[in-house]
Amino acid sequence: MKVFIAGLATETNTFSPIPTGMISYQEGLIAHGDATTRAPVGFGAPMHVWRDRAEALGWDVAESLAAFAQPAGPTVASVYNAFVDEILTDLKAAKPVDIILLTMHGAMVAENCDDCEGDLMSRCREIVGPDAIIGLEIDPHCHMTPLMLEAANLIVAYKEYPHTDISDRAEDLFTLAADAATGKTNPIMRTYDCHMIGMYFTPLEPIRSFTDDMFAEEGKGGILSLSLCHGFPWGDTAETGTKMLAIADGDAAIAAARARAYGERLWSLRDQLVSNYPTIEEALDKAEALDADKPIVLGDFADNAGGGAPSDSTFVLKEVLNRGLKGVALGMYWDPIVIRQCVEAGEGARLTLRIGGKMGPASGNPIDLTVRVLAIKKGLKQKFGDLDMPMGTAALLEANGVYLLVNDQRSQLFDPSGFTQLGLDLSQMKIIVVKSSNHFYDRFAPIAEVVWHMKTPGAITPEFTSIPYTKRDGNYWPRVDDPFASETALAE
Ligand SMILES: [Zn+2]
Repeated sequence: MKVFIAGLATETNTFSPIPTGMISYQEGLIAHGDATTRAPVGFGAPMHVWRDRAEALGWDVAESLAAFAQPAGPTVASVYNAFVDEILTDLKAAKPVDIILLTMHGAMVAENCDDCEGDLMSRCREIVGPDAIIGLEIDPHCHMTPLMLEAANLIVAYKEYPHTDISDRAEDLFTLAADAATGKTNPIMRTYDCHMIGMYFTPLEPIRSFTDDMFAEEGKGGILSLSLCHGFPWGDTAETGTKMLAIADGDAAIAAARARAYGERLWSLRDQLVSNYPTIEEALDKAEALDADKPIVLGDFADNAGGGAPSDSTFVLKEVLNRGLKGVALGMYWDPIVIRQCVEAGEGARLTLRIGGKMGPASGNPIDLTVRVLAIKKGLKQKFGDLDMPMGTAALLEANGVYLLVNDQRSQLFDPSGFTQLGLDLSQMKIIVVKSSNHFYDRFAPIAEVVWHMKTPGAITPEFTSIPYTKRDGNYWPRVDDPFASETALAE
């Protein structure tokens, strides 16, 4: 047996003004066949799992490109074409190949392609023919497309959001692909379109039980795998939305029935899934009034770099300063210009800086602030699950009891260590504001009195009724109350 492994991933916010070109991938990872000799980062973790599993069986492994970029706007066409060409060239050289395993995002859009996952897999299929097994691991914030389902034998999405199970799902996919390639199973995939657009947090009910039930059903009654494809609301493609995927062993009817059953269950839960987040003002009012022993952690939902937002919006900072609050830590602000000035002036310097608000209207206005540079460190990393995520150079700034974490490598803040590595004692903070939609929850909840997601302004506001789609039609909940009604009318 020979297993071919490769990775090409970014989550594309088609509304983002930030192009995703070669610099963005260089900042993330570009490895030409040797990603598994390095420490695993993000989307690369599955390749380590797959190599280990294949080698333990004595199988051959052919490793191709691993290229991953922080979410932003569409990938530049020439960059996408070069990456795809490299993978296809490696695949031709590796033939004959029995199994292809790919780690991708599922919502990657290039300037010249709305469905990068379907495109790459179908071109792999042309090279290896119908008998090879093609398996894809993706983020649940994906656009599940007909081309992906046609080209792949197996698609497995992470089940958890925060995505703490990337390596576990890689194990699942390897087992499924090995069983299929050795003739033990005959995987058949079917999906159900929930006609919904939303965000579903798996630590919280009712999605916790939904997810636990998916885990419990796998391996029983002919079901090989279940994935809730949450969808990525800020990617404008014809297939954007929430879909349920089921894989059954040799029985399309079972796969279709289970996909429908879970999809209808999600639909029935929709009223419980409406996010009723406080505004900045409401959240700060509540936080000021709360007598808390531990910090109150507030998520700046809409300025999440992990969803393609700039991570330099100033809306929350402005309100904190207007109120004269002290004991507030905020981060992480992507501002390479500020970092350059801090590095130039050095630790201990007192500077007047123009902070944030640089990337467009979704970032708000920059804020002029006189600060002390408390600490600067280069080459920092933070934890996301078990993975080390790069932060670049970061500085901790202080102004009148307000502490700002600024860095030069755009990323959401996953982990309190973003602050603590620079010497800030978070236990002394009354409020911690984190630029992240939900991934921060896993590591901030244990140090928090309470965690509230805020309905902030910015690039990815959770206002699903008003996202200005041009390719996705408007027939989805919550934009319309019953999207199935018009589907029925069309069918009649
Ligand atoms: Zn995701």
